[in-house]
Amino acid sequence: MALIVQKYGGTSVGDLDRIAHVARRVKATREAGNEVVVVLSAMGGETDRLLEMAHQVSAHPARRELDVLLATGEQVSIALLCMSLANERCAARSFTGGQARIRTDTSHTRARIEEIDVNAISRALTAGEVAVVAGFQGIDQDGNITTLGRGGSDTTAVALAAALGAEECQIYTDVDGVYTSDPRVVPDARRMDTVTYEEMLELASLGAKVLQIRAVEFASKYNVTLRVLSSFEEGPGTLITSEDATMEKPLISGVAFNQDEAKLTVKGVPDRPGIAAALLGPIAEANIDIDMIVQNVSEDGTTDMTFTVHRRDYQAAFELLDRHARNLDAAAVTGDDRIAKISLVGVGMRSHAGIAARMFEALAAESINIQMISTSEIKISVVVDEKYLELGVRALHAAFGLAEQPPRNQAVKS
Ligand code: ADP
Ligand code: ASP
Ligand code: MG
Repeated sequence: MALIVQKYGGTSVGDLDRIAHVARRVKATREAGNEVVVVLSAMGGETDRLLEMAHQVSAHPARRELDVLLATGEQVSIALLCMSLANERCAARSFTGGQARIRTDTSHTRARIEEIDVNAISRALTAGEVAVVAGFQGIDQDGNITTLGRGGSDTTAVALAAALGAEECQIYTDVDGVYTSDPRVVPDARRMDTVTYEEMLELASLGAKVLQIRAVEFASKYNVTLRVLSSFEEGPGTLITSEDATMEKPLISGVAFNQDEAKLTVKGVPDRPGIAAALLGPIAEANIDIDMIVQNVSEDGTTDMTFTVHRRDYQAAFELLDRHARNLDAAAVTGDDRIAKISLVGVGMRSHAGIAARMFEALAAESINIQMISTSEIKISVVVDEKYLELGVRALHAAFGLAEQPPRNQAVKS
C-alpha cells in the first residue's frame, strides 16, 4: 500500500462545493488502495482577512497573537473536510499542527519545522483513517502555536511526506503545474513536465510563489518526489525531482519576478575600508535581510552603494541608513520602493555564455532601463521600474522562446 500526501491550497478549498470536490478526490485516492495524508490551507482569502483584522486592531500586533489568530484559518478547513469525508463514508480524522506534533522553533510568523513525531498520524493511518492535517502551523517546545510564513502549507506537506516516507507529495493548486512564468502575467507560458529541485528553488526564491521556498528545500534535502497539479482538472502536472538523463534540459527554464523589494542608495561616501560594514551592519542588526548589493567607486575617492530590502522593511532601513550615513560623511541617501526584480533561471546557463547579453538586448528593445544586475551560476536578475514589470517579463519570455516545447534530451542550444 502506497502512502500519498496531498496538499490542497486556498482556492482548492475556497468554498463548500470545492471542499466536497476535494473529499471525493481524497476518497478516490483512498479507494485506489493508498494510505492518504491530506494537508490543507485556509479557505482562499481567509489568511488575508485575518491579517487585515489584526492590523485594524493594532499597527504592530504581537507576533505570538498573530499566530494564534492566523492558525484558525486552517482549523476551519480541516474540520469541514472531515465532515465532507464523513458524507462520503470515508473515515477521516483532523489534526491541528500541535495534534500532528509538528514541532517548530519559536520564531512566530516565520517558524521553521524542527521535528515531527509521526506516531499520532501513523495510528490514524493504521486504523484505516485519512489523516487531515492543518497546514502552515506547528507548536514550539512550550506549546505555543506558531506559523510557517505565507504559503507554509506547502512546507507542512513536504515535511510530512519526508517524515512518513511517502511515495509522493502532491501539491494541488489552481494551475495545472509549474509554468515557464506566472501564467497570470504571461498568457502563453508553458507547463513543464519536469523541473529539477535546483531550478525550482531558484524560481521560488526569485518570486514564483507556486511553491514555498522551504518546501522545495525540504523536498530536495530529503529527496521527496513532489508534484504540482490542478485540483480543478485532471492532468500529469509537473514533477519536481533531482536531475536525471531523461529530463528536458532547456537552456532557460523560466522567468520569475518579484515586486516585494525596494532599493536604497547611499551616495558619496569616502571610500575606505570598513565602509560597507559600517553601512550594512546596522541593517543586519535590525534583522532586515539584504538582497542585491552594488557598489561603485568614483574617481574623486568616494563610493556609491545601492542595495535592496523587502518592501515592508523599506522605511525602517531608510531611517537607519540615513542616520549612519550622516556619521560617515555621505553626500545623500535616496530610495525607491516602486521597483521590480525580473529573473531568468536555467541550469543551462552554466555552460553557455551570452545569455546576459541577450537578456539585456531584449529589455533594451522595449526601452526598459536596467537599474541593477546580479548573477549567480544559474540565474540573472535585473531591477527595473515596477511599471515595466509585465512588459519586461513577457519580452524575456518571448526572446528566449519559452512558449515553445524544447526538444527532449536536447543538449541545450545557444
Ligand atoms: P495555493 O493557494 O494553491 O497555494 P498559490 O496562489 O500559492 O496557490 O500558487 C499558485 C499560483 O502561483 C498560480 O495561480 C500562479 O499565478 C502563481 N505562479 C507564479 N509563478 C508561477 C509559475 N512559474 N508556474 C505556475 N504558477 C505560478
Ligand atoms: N493560509 C496560509 C497563507 O495563505 C498558508 C498557505 O496557504 O499555505 O499563506
Ligand atoms: Mg501557495
